[in-house]
Amino acid sequence: MLTLECPCCGIIADETELHAGGEAHLKRETVGSSDDDFEDYLFMRENPKGVHFERWRHVAGCGKWFHAARCTTTLEVFGTYPAQTLAPPKNITDKISAKRPGWTWRAFS
Ligand SMILES: [Zn+2]
Repeated sequence: MLTLECPCCGIIADETELHAGGEAHLKRETVGSSDDDFEDYLFMRENPKGVHFERWRHVAGCGKWFHAARCTTTLEVFGTYPAQTLAPPKNITDKISAKRPGWTWRAFS
């Protein structure tokens, strides 16, 4: 079972206490965006076999959204951080790079 530490309240919660919110760090498109960019924003999501950055909500706890970096194949969690963070924190990307040599963020974009 997947367990994540909520960075907002510090509780270590299993997935039954959380709600998945999809991919983290999406670039929001708005008025003035091209049709292709807006279509990508609405429909195109990364679905990697490996490291992924996701949004989660602590529904059975504090109710706040946060981000998690984890491996989709092993469920290894590299870290969680507040949802207001625009990019993965360096300590988390360093931890991933140490365990997965050659890995880079946005390798799928
Ligand atoms: Zn919480």
